[in-house]
Amino acid sequence: MEISNFIKTIMEEDLKSGKHDKIITRFPPEPNAFLHIGHARAIVTNFELAKCFNGETILRFDDTNPAKEEKRFIDAIINDIKWLGYTPSKITFGSDYFDKDYEYAVELIKQGIAYVDDLTKDEIKEYRGTLDTPGKESPYRNRSVSENLKLFEEMKNGLYEEGSKTLRVKIDMSSSNMNMRDPAIYRIIKKPHAHTGDKWNIYPLYDYAHPLQDAIEHVTHSLCSLEYVEHRPLYDWVIDNTHPESIPRQIEFGRLNIEGTILSKRYLKELVDLKLVTDYDDPRMPTLVGLKRKGFTPESIKEFILSTGLSRINSEIPFSSLDHYLMDDLKLKTVRRMAVLNPLKVTITNYPEGEVEELDFVNNLENEELGSRKITFSRHLYIEKEDFIEVKPNNKYKRLSLGAEVRLMGSYFIKANEVIKDENGEVIEVLATYDKNTLSGSGFNERKPQGTIQYVDASTCKKATFRLFDSLIDPSVSEDAPLSERFNKNSMTEVVGFVENAYDGTPELKSQLMRNGYYSNDYDSTQDNIIINRTVSLKQSFK
Ligand code: ATP
Ligand code: MG
Repeated sequence: MEISNFIKTIMEEDLKSGKHDKIITRFPPEPNAFLHIGHARAIVTNFELAKCFNGETILRFDDTNPAKEEKRFIDAIINDIKWLGYTPSKITFGSDYFDKDYEYAVELIKQGIAYVDDLTKDEIKEYRGTLDTPGKESPYRNRSVSENLKLFEEMKNGLYEEGSKTLRVKIDMSSSNMNMRDPAIYRIIKKPHAHTGDKWNIYPLYDYAHPLQDAIEHVTHSLCSLEYVEHRPLYDWVIDNTHPESIPRQIEFGRLNIEGTILSKRYLKELVDLKLVTDYDDPRMPTLVGLKRKGFTPESIKEFILSTGLSRINSEIPFSSLDHYLMDDLKLKTVRRMAVLNPLKVTITNYPEGEVEELDFVNNLENEELGSRKITFSRHLYIEKEDFIEVKPNNKYKRLSLGAEVRLMGSYFIKANEVIKDENGEVIEVLATYDKNTLSGSGFNERKPQGTIQYVDASTCKKATFRLFDSLIDPSVSEDAPLSERFNKNSMTEVVGFVENAYDGTPELKSQLMRNGYYSNDYDSTQDNIIINRTVSLKQSFK
């Protein structure tokens, strides 16, 4: 699938007109959380667009706020991007440019368009006015250039307390865009920074630092999500008034939202902090590490993102459309296996006790290259509970019922003759007979079975824990409720069942469990304690 959207058209025009001779984009995450699938839209868009034009994409950590950064987030973000198959042309940090940001700020003061303001945070807010009323100019707005230079340097040197002074730019206190009412570009924060230590007592604000970072790195097209539209005039103001040699352009696109989950770092952090999920890589999480653990492939995520297109409106997409791309990706790539999640005992009464035979099975009927394996068959088997009913409801019923015959996948026809029930009247065992002339591949065609179902041989199958997932957020709870209530308490269920003898419990190994779905072994899985995550259920399609 190829990327095609309004931003690509802009880039094409900019190359054609000679405005740029190379496309440079950047992905600018704050290193304060793990990436989620919404970020994947920004990553895929930036990297794919640059790739289209032989350009480059920079990974720039937006670390202008010293408080939030954590090394594990930086490492995770780098890994996630690599996992998606992209290589940044370089990895930079917003803090790399603190010196330049400062020099540009001094220039703005010298031009008489930046001033040190002594108003408090609350006063600034009050002076700013509202959408309906113009703001008031600060009494400090007309300080002399020399006084401003002195005060700004003293702010830098730590002479003033947090909150006592800011550096603001003079734009227009009556602008209809609130962001243009003399925005602050520097504030005092007396915290050491992960990269610059205690060198700085002042830190630039995002709206000032971001355009400068883009300009310094020669980014041509600075792509961001829709909420920044209102910030674009300020972005352009900063560029126009600092006169960098390279002029970037901000372009906004719609955010990606997924039904049944929340794509916001703050909420994801809360889920982890409240221990509602095990960690950021819990398979229920919409983080890239969570999706990976659940079994999603980078290819499926990329195709999904490309399929959603890119527009100037935010989109809300059902999770199931991601499922579709996973199935597409894995259909020919994975082996198919038999498993029984809710086992029901079947005894083949005409099959000799103690005898075991081996049957040949291809691993994927649609891709012979995946080879074959031996499956055992014996007197004691398990089938899926829901594949048996005593009395079939109608002639469309395609599973096992008393008096009827089904094919056991790749093996024999069996006929159910009798059931054994527990004291509650629930069927706990089916007594059946098999017809040894009906082996798959033998050419037997005298009768047609009612249907085909999977099974495992009780004498050789392996026990496995299956983790089944539902949406993270309960759609029936109000969006205004606290997260602890919105969290779907049934978002994960565990069942213990069986997998066929050939099943390999190696972590991260993926397979299609026949007539069931796509599964991926959990990181904690071992050959002796197989744990399998359901990535995508096929149930809807076979029901
Ligand atoms: P959050 O709102 O969850 O805190 P953020 O947007 O602040 O996320 P950043 O680290 O600043 O997180 O994001 C890096 C980039 O990813 C930004 O350019 C942002 O626009 C983009 N991005 C984040 N979430 C989405 C989304 N749901 N759809 C598209 N782009 C997104
Ligand atoms: Mg952000």
